Amino acid sequence: MDKTGEGGVVITKLDDLLNWARLTSLFPMGFGLACCAIEMMGAYASGYDLDRFGIIPRASPRQSDVMIVAGTVTFKMADRVRRLYEQMPEPRYVISMGSCSNCGGPYWEHGYHVVKGVDRIIPVDVYVPGCPPRPEALIGGFLKLQEIIRQETIRAPRAVQQIMAKRMKNA
Ligand code: SF4
Repeated sequence: MDKTGEGGVVITKLDDLLNWARLTSLFPMGFGLACCAIEMMGAYASGYDLDRFGIIPRASPRQSDVMIVAGTVTFKMADRVRRLYEQMPEPRYVISMGSCSNCGGPYWEHGYHVVKGVDRIIPVDVYVPGCPPRPEALIGGFLKLQEIIRQETIRAPRAVQQIMAKRMKNA
């Protein structure tokens, strides 16, 4: 951004303005699946205070732009997770929090009821490792997501890129 003159005129690109607005007002969906969700709640609480990054949980997928998959994704829950994701408006982002969500975690070998990675049902933008990851790790995941959003451009909207990538994969 460039500031010109004494009148406080600011010149910037539309991409930078939109990205700045998006990355400083992320609204995660308020839901959790298992023990990792306790650490996620800890990150929202006063000790870590995600509000200071403009990250405020919302109670509805229609008002959310980030899904934090915090916990074990069972096959029974997978349909619900996908449905919630599909109810979120574009642009939408997914943070996979913890080993269970990343790859099945401790249920990797014998967990017949656990999806071995939530990226098998929805696209994931940021993976946060750990069992469970501490709130600092989740904050690190959000900072990583902010870096991703900072690179976006309205000339190539993310939703279109994802559709094209899917078509290329299936071709
Ligand atoms: S990664 Fe560990 S802490 Fe998180 S949901 Fe799985 S078992 Fe629980």
